[in-house]
Amino acid sequence: MYKHILFATDLTEDTDYLVVKVRSLRGLTNAKLSLIHVVEPLPGYSYAYLGIEDIEGQLIEEARQSMEKLGEKLGVSKADQHIEVGPTKVKILTVADEVGVDLIMCGSHGRHGLSLLLGSTANAILHGAKCDVLTVRLPEEQ
Ligand code: AMP
Repeated sequence: MYKHILFATDLTEDTDYLVVKVRSLRGLTNAKLSLIHVVEPLPGYSYAYLGIEDIEGQLIEEARQSMEKLGEKLGVSKADQHIEVGPTKVKILTVADEVGVDLIMCGSHGRHGLSLLLGSTANAILHGAKCDVLTVRLPEEQ
């Protein structure tokens, strides 16, 4: 059975839905759990004119706070909470390799049209991962 699960979270309102599934699977497998959230880098121009000096730093700090709460909810220590800056798909796959997980869990939105062609994070993880991937279909947006 799975020994180490990596839960990729965008820290949006979808997270609560996924947490239920992550918790159940972890209970069934008794696996170790790690978390990852990726902050995509912003174009390198200044946002000072908006009165924001370090927008990326602020995004990282906000992510850190949300991640900490999620870690408490799921009983995941800080050492196993990963916040990365870079391309989301690449970073998830890199950390999955580095920490040696055997299952990645992520959400998946039912997509149509252009966004389906552009591809989703779930698709990219599924096609690039060396381990198993569990994509959880998220409820349709209202
Ligand atoms: P999306 O393709 O944006 O609809 O995201 C599908 C799933 O990919 C989400 O439910 C998360 O599990 C994962 N994901 C998306 N964005 C991120 C992110 N920035 N950091 C970590 N995981 C993410």
